[in-house]
Amino acid sequence: MDYRKKLIVKPGSKVRLKDFDPAWHGKHENEKEAAEDMVKHLARITKQQRLLYGEKRHSLLVVLQGIDAAGKDGVCWHVLHAMNPQGVDVTGFKQPTPEEHDHDFLWRVHPHAPGLGRIAVFNRSHYEDVLVVRAHKLVPKSVWSTRYDRINEFERLLHENGTTIVKFFLLITPEEQLKRFGERLDDPMRQWKISNSDYSERALWDDYTRAYEAMLENCSTEHAPWYVIPSNNKWFRNLAASQIIAATLEDFHMKLPAPTVDLAKIRAEYHATAVDPANPEKAAKVQNDKGRNDKDKGDGKENDKGKGKSKSKSS
Ligand code: AMP
Ligand code: MG
Repeated sequence: MDYRKKLIVKPGSKVRLKDFDPAWHGKHENEKEAAEDMVKHLARITKQQRLLYGEKRHSLLVVLQGIDAAGKDGVCWHVLHAMNPQGVDVTGFKQPTPEEHDHDFLWRVHPHAPGLGRIAVFNRSHYEDVLVVRAHKLVPKSVWSTRYDRINEFERLLHENGTTIVKFFLLITPEEQLKRFGERLDDPMRQWKISNSDYSERALWDDYTRAYEAMLENCSTEHAPWYVIPSNNKWFRNLAASQIIAATLEDFHMKLPAPTVDLAKIRAEYHATAVDPANPEKAAKVQNDKGRNDKDKGDGKENDKGKGKSKSKSS
């Protein structure tokens, strides 16, 4: 199933998050049933990333947004491990530093856009400047309200330079968030993640909801669509994200560049009699076998001749 069709926010459409089911999980009932598809999608991603890296004509930007504990880190972990780390750059955007604060809001983002052949993942992004900034009234409306247009222009620029952008909004319920915070409390490996603001932010849930809706309505475009990923089930979130990334990359119809050298010549010149330093006997054996075969061939001719002679003798 192509989740893109089901989960895309159609450009220009009105968005009410209450109309979305955060627990929706498509045709699979549980993680076990989805496991086979998940493995397939990850293998597709592995293959496509190799093509992307070799072909160097496209790049992919994956933007992750969602409330605390929605699973942004989880997507990074479970989906990106299908990729060769050499070709991927993950950037987490936190509270701006004083220097970042002194610049326009896209200043810190642009250097992390992916170059051709690469995949960039934004764990939070330029969208924080119309989300947390709006929910907390960090700048007046007259400032944040112009940013939707600036973001669309910025993303168009990236698109025109060969970058395809997919944006995942990970949707969970407040109940699921509290459950996950509770699990963190009980898990020594994740206790470090807990902050007081995780809990105090919950009071702003409705403000965040309005900010997310405005972001989805204003910034889902043909060239950089938003997908709302139902994320109450972690396994479905990972499945949908990996399927959408795989399908997006496959749509590039990438081809590896043709070799720039004469492979047959190289094979003949360097490999036919090459000595493998790790296994020098092997090369010697190949040489000997080759010599023997040549000799055998020669002997064969001799034999044939001999046979011919003996035949003629006997006849
Ligand atoms: P975390 O992702 O949990 O490590 O937290 C990062 C924090 O940085 C979140 O609370 C974000 O809301 C905050 N943050 C990210 N970008 C901005 C921004 N442009 N302005 C203010 N806060 C931000
Ligand atoms: Mg956090």
